[in-house]
Amino acid sequence: MAVDALGKCCDIVSYGRQLLTDPQYPEKVRTGRLDEIRPCLGCHEGCLGRISKGPICCAVNPACGREEIYGLNPVKKSKRVLVIGGGLSGMEVARVCAERGHNVTLCEKTNQPGGNLVPGGVPDFKRNDRALVKWYIRQLELLNVEVKMNCLITAESVHEYNTDIIITATGSIPKSIRVDGVKEVVTASDVLLGNVNIGNTIAMIGGGLVGCETALWLAMQGKKVTVIEILPEILGGPHELPHMNRFMLEDLLTYNEVKIMKSSKVQKSDANGVLVSNENGEIHVDADTVISAVGYQSDDNLYNAINKIDIPVHNVGDSRLVHNIMYSIWDAYELARNI
Ligand code: SF4
Repeated sequence: MAVDALGKCCDIVSYGRQLLTDPQYPEKVRTGRLDEIRPCLGCHEGCLGRISKGPICCAVNPACGREEIYGLNPVKKSKRVLVIGGGLSGMEVARVCAERGHNVTLCEKTNQPGGNLVPGGVPDFKRNDRALVKWYIRQLELLNVEVKMNCLITAESVHEYNTDIIITATGSIPKSIRVDGVKEVVTASDVLLGNVNIGNTIAMIGGGLVGCETALWLAMQGKKVTVIEILPEILGGPHELPHMNRFMLEDLLTYNEVKIMKSSKVQKSDANGVLVSNENGEIHVDADTVISAVGYQSDDNLYNAINKIDIPVHNVGDSRLVHNIMYSIWDAYELARNI
């Protein structure tokens, strides 16, 4: 790149989405605080995907575009807040509570934060999800949130914590599916995390976002993948995802030769694959591995067990209602700005 006598290579640098995500981006770059930059996910859920619905915002920055009415105020009285769960909504609720002046402890039962973003961020094309988790870790550090990993809290042990408020953010778990026959069905989450061995010919049951992204990731590794979706459209149809993301994912699936079967149902498995029925009759799909990606269900057991104790208990994120990244963050922000 050409550089002039003053060491400048240009007069103006223009940014788009990154400034929605983090308006302090230029200043953080100027002062070398790169690990404090909130990353853009390229999801378009909050910005271009909403352009026909009203003012644009940002999935990871809920106050974007409405800072004056939806920004954060310092708390009048600091409280002790115990956040149970270190996934996305747990980290967001902890971050916002701490930023407003509460004294926050976050307990996560596994050895790493991130929740469903951990498997979700495995494909390289999802690296910004990993960057978002890193950003939260850094923010919680800067805000002096006490973070305890490998810390399982139960309905009994919760009483050991001296706290004013409890927030459960225990997330969601993949729904399981059973297929009659001889094949074991493994979840997309376990495949992404490398918890199970898989072969080279894959039947993916479920053509939602997780199923399609996992199928793409496997096809990019040279595996032969068939996605079997019970609905007439993959990715929830034309209104579920912002159209630019849907078109790109569909094109990448085609380019990587992922076979898509819509309006199709897996009936049973045999030693060589699965039997699928659709309007064309019954079709055998060769597969040495059957993977399910049929959605998530709230893990709300802890909230249900403790919500009658004598201090306020709130439930947030997927453990309240399974949704996407944007609504997990927005749900947590809304709760935390009102505590
Ligand atoms: S909504 Fe998504 S794509 Fe748009 S600026 Fe925010 S993180 Fe980036």
